Amino acid sequence: MDKITQAIRTQLGPTSEKEHSNPIFLTSSFTYENAEEMRAVFADEIDANIYSRFINPNTKELQDKMTILEGTESAYAVASGMAAMFATFMSLLKQGDSILSCNAIFGSTHTVFTKYLPKYGISHKYVPVNATAEEWENAIDETTKMIFLETPTNPGLDIIDLEMVGEIAKKHNLIFVVDNCFATPIIQTPKEFGADIIVHSGTKWIDGQGRVLGGIICGKKDLIHEIYLFSRSTGPALSPFNAWILSKSLETLDVRMERHASNAKFLAEKLENHPAIDWLKYPELPSHPQYEIAKKQMKNGGGLVVFNLKGGLEAGRKFLDKLQILSLTANLGDTRSIASHPASTTHAKLTEEERMKVGITPGLIRISVGLEHREDILKDILQALN
Ligand SMILES: *Cc1c(COP(=O)(O)O)cnc(C)c1O
Repeated sequence: MDKITQAIRTQLGPTSEKEHSNPIFLTSSFTYENAEEMRAVFADEIDANIYSRFINPNTKELQDKMTILEGTESAYAVASGMAAMFATFMSLLKQGDSILSCNAIFGSTHTVFTKYLPKYGISHKYVPVNATAEEWENAIDETTKMIFLETPTNPGLDIIDLEMVGEIAKKHNLIFVVDNCFATPIIQTPKEFGADIIVHSGTKWIDGQGRVLGGIICGKKDLIHEIYLFSRSTGPALSPFNAWILSKSLETLDVRMERHASNAKFLAEKLENHPAIDWLKYPELPSHPQYEIAKKQMKNGGGLVVFNLKGGLEAGRKFLDKLQILSLTANLGDTRSIASHPASTTHAKLTEEERMKVGITPGLIRISVGLEHREDILKDILQALN
């Protein structure tokens, strides 16, 4: 059976009410018939619910679906994408270890690497997005325990060769962690290329409608178990309500991503040669610098398009002001198209040099392409550009 069918048909229950859609289990804890049953559950002799900080039927259903979609052995769901990242680092690394990462990563992940992990003696080393196999390998030393990367990168939309980095991780016996938020398991499954752990912000394409926060970690059973043990004691639990939303959302992820991607490709093709734009990146266009790698590891180009306005910082701000339909907001992966200008917003605190290092040019615009009619999205962008 195809994984899409399996994920759609995966559901807990039904309960004695024989409902078709899984209900929301808004309960902090679960009950037992007698002292013996309770003892056995706590002793891990029986697999049963205990307390919603550990697991809840709704988070379990979400985990089961993500396990199928990513093709991993196991998964664990937490309250946000950042909770997923932090639980992964804290449970799998210890004092003296270091992470080798691509430098183009989500801003808060960078903050965790630079501000918080060092307090626990965990360091990091960055390589650029276009690092060769040799450069990745040369950056490994005896402290390196983990390789971390995001592809496509945020917001630059660069593509990193998962097969290449996966082989290096395997050769050096390193835990290979991929943030698969931008592609989703519909477009890219990093496990095929050797990823041990795949982290997700469920907040983005998985929810897909900008409603709830959530995070999911997929991967090898023993590693996920470590992350689960860390999380059940430290408390980044996902709310059952959010888990219910995310689980239901997964049932439409495949059709949504197909439309997000076809709308995005249409826009990218129409805008590529616009006189106000000096370059545009979309993974499925031959003009993308890593087009060949994208073809190898991605089913399509995804729902994001980035371009650089010739007029730089001022043109970026003006462009946002002129948009009539597209939303100005920090999120991405919504039914509604969103425009953002990283240099004046999310990355404004960095110096110009720091921004350039991670590919954020002054005129960079990121479009999260929604599900509106493609002609309407195009029209709004064109009138703002003009
Ligand atoms: C949003 C995002 C995160 C963090 O997820 P939250 O759910 O906001 O905590 C991590 N990585 C990437 C690539 C993201 O876009």
